[in-house]
Amino acid sequence: MARSGSSNAAEFARAQQSLVGGVNSAVRAFRAVGGTPRFIARAQGAYMWDVEGRRYIDYLGSWGPMIVGQAHPAVVEAVREAAAHGLSYGAPNVMETELAEAIKELYPQIERVRLTSSGTEAAMSALRLARGATGRTKILKFEGCYHGTADSLLVKAGSGALAFGTPSSAGVPADLAQHTLVANYNDLASVEVLFAEYPGQIACVMIEPIPGNMNLMLPEPGFLEGLRALCSRAGVLLIFDEVMSGFRVAPGGAQELTGVVPDLSAFGKVIGGGMPVGAFGGSAAVMEHLAPLGGVYQAGTLSGNPIAMAAGLATLRLIREPGFFEALAARTRQIVDGLCEAARRHCVPFSARHAGGMAGMYFMAEAPRTFAEIQGQDAAAFKRFFHRMLDSGVYFPPSTVEAFFTSSAHGEEDVAFTLEAANAAFAQEAQSVSPPIPLATQ
Ligand SMILES: *Cc1c(COP(=O)(O)O)cnc(C)c1O
Repeated sequence: MARSGSSNAAEFARAQQSLVGGVNSAVRAFRAVGGTPRFIARAQGAYMWDVEGRRYIDYLGSWGPMIVGQAHPAVVEAVREAAAHGLSYGAPNVMETELAEAIKELYPQIERVRLTSSGTEAAMSALRLARGATGRTKILKFEGCYHGTADSLLVKAGSGALAFGTPSSAGVPADLAQHTLVANYNDLASVEVLFAEYPGQIACVMIEPIPGNMNLMLPEPGFLEGLRALCSRAGVLLIFDEVMSGFRVAPGGAQELTGVVPDLSAFGKVIGGGMPVGAFGGSAAVMEHLAPLGGVYQAGTLSGNPIAMAAGLATLRLIREPGFFEALAARTRQIVDGLCEAARRHCVPFSARHAGGMAGMYFMAEAPRTFAEIQGQDAAAFKRFFHRMLDSGVYFPPSTVEAFFTSSAHGEEDVAFTLEAANAAFAQEAQSVSPPIPLATQ
């Protein structure tokens, strides 16, 4: 809880004396946009309040999980009830089965699930499983896709690492990184080249099917289908990392939207409803290589934690109510269209788009199709926009390579407030940059 009279600047200074960089997850430090991170005191519905008592419309949504808004009464009640029955058992509880069943209902090709405490753990464990099940060592990922912080996956990773301009992390042994092959998203030929170069050696292809960590990216028609065909032909397991897109772009994730079925799927974020949860799943044949049935070891003291299960189950129940996703997508479209319109009004090069309740804005005239294209954004213009919006009380993720998130708590008046603030921010942008091009020469 915030002490009264504290300020973001004072709390940041204090935090930096005890926490590395003042944060526990790198991108929270605002390094990509500059300025002082806001220390959040509480959140409710579509809003967060910082320690200075300032309110923000929340388009961060804890980076994706808060799809029903903050402190939803049904989720809070489920957590309260579960907490009264004990915080952790280290022995099975029925809610774990129920969460696995809820996942299977929306992802019908999944037969077995393993629950973890984070998306990182889910992706890391799926990777080990793929290697163990195939007996192969190499893995293939895509530049700009982020799969958490496992060593093998921090090779040219996106998200925070990308925002800092350090595409691969120090501390990852070259011996390990050499087993991670990196292809280009939306470029099937770049995958074919690697498949040809390493026949019989690639265990899996891991991909964010609808990436949200190089900002929102969408698959070109045929890309994921082609990837599926290549993997099937080569005996390579296709892993969809839907930690962000799962239960977010559609109830059944990118696989529901595209109809492309992976061998393994990784989840996180929404399935925990704000509590630490991850999961991965696939066919029984592949999943049963995992301990205790198979030789691939995986475990976690707090995996399937009852409080986390309760929050996740309550959230999944809400998103499956009739019309939930239609309303979420419509609201998100309203925001995206409104931002584009405001930018156009002031002649600021800008584009935006969304998939369900996940959206991207780009300070460039056309939405990017590749990781290379996204580098063409006007990062300085984004920084100015980010801070103008923040000062107006609208909190977007603090980076050009992050998606932003909506929730069912975002109402008509929140959209209006956001678009009014955006209009003012774009107007300022139009004045601060070069003067309008005179039309006299036409
Ligand atoms: C957030 C994210 C992860 C990592 O999940 P954590 O819970 O932060 O460990 C992995 N993959 C994708 C696609 C993500 O967006």
